[in-house]
Amino acid sequence: MTYYNEHTLIWRDGQFVKAADTVTDLYSQSLHYGYAVFEGIRSYRTAGGETRIFKPVAHFERLRHSARALNLPYEHRTEDLIATTYELLERNNLQDAYIRPIVYAPANMTFNLNTRSHIAIEVWEMAPFLGEKLLRVMTSSFQRPNPRAFRIEAKASGHYVNSILASQEAKAKGYDEALLTDMHGFVAEGPGANVFFEAEGRLFTPAAGHILTGITRATVIEICRERGIPVEEGCFTVEEARRADAAFFCGTAAEVIGWQSLDDSVYRKPWESTIGRLVQEAYKDRVIEKDHQLATV
Ligand code: PMP
Repeated sequence: MTYYNEHTLIWRDGQFVKAADTVTDLYSQSLHYGYAVFEGIRSYRTAGGETRIFKPVAHFERLRHSARALNLPYEHRTEDLIATTYELLERNNLQDAYIRPIVYAPANMTFNLNTRSHIAIEVWEMAPFLGEKLLRVMTSSFQRPNPRAFRIEAKASGHYVNSILASQEAKAKGYDEALLTDMHGFVAEGPGANVFFEAEGRLFTPAAGHILTGITRATVIEICRERGIPVEEGCFTVEEARRADAAFFCGTAAEVIGWQSLDDSVYRKPWESTIGRLVQEAYKDRVIEKDHQLATV
């Protein structure tokens, strides 16, 4: 995967600059301690041919909350960052893109507060909607962090060491992705996505507390509410997840992607006839505005 070339522009601290010419500080507190916050956002070429960022306000507001949760200085206005991102997409000639804003700390080897922070926005091309191949998932030997050890509701860089370990473990064992439990052993989430299970015509998903409650998760719930599909949030065991009729991951990058199996136990219901499949189609239509909804916040 090439994220940038000699022409790619990024936006950093108020200026459009070439990605290839930018340097980061090797003394940054972010690099040494994983002390930074970021976002993962998607833009799409809509059915009408426009470039549209999906739920930009929700994403940039989460960036603000993540920065505040970690005591990183943050004085940016969401509307300015959205306008800047549209300009960055245009300057890089991108429509179907992944957008990665990051707020990071200056040179600081102590654990003390910073008086300033940096912000950068990077964009790169993404293939139009993925999600056709079903995943073979394994329950990870890694658990999500204790929420009393981290600001688990923040999208903080350091949390992703846990995600990387879980994902690498699953792939080394021949699976496509990991499912992590929380510190009590209940189903939590994937390394970079939330999870839903289907049983008896309803969807089940882990409640807030030990997970990043994703913006896609909220969209899935929205889609189900509009269609009268019941969704329950709660605590679920891995055994319950295995015995479900079907399952899927959802996230900004993953979009909605079905599972073939969990720990080699194959879901009996054909993906084509699951609620997940219906949600996948509805999500696909929503992000490209084919359902004629106005861009939602
Ligand atoms: N959980 C984790 C750990 C994630 O990294 C992500 C991706 N941001 C999600 C859930 C899904 O969040 P969203 O739908 O907001 O992308």
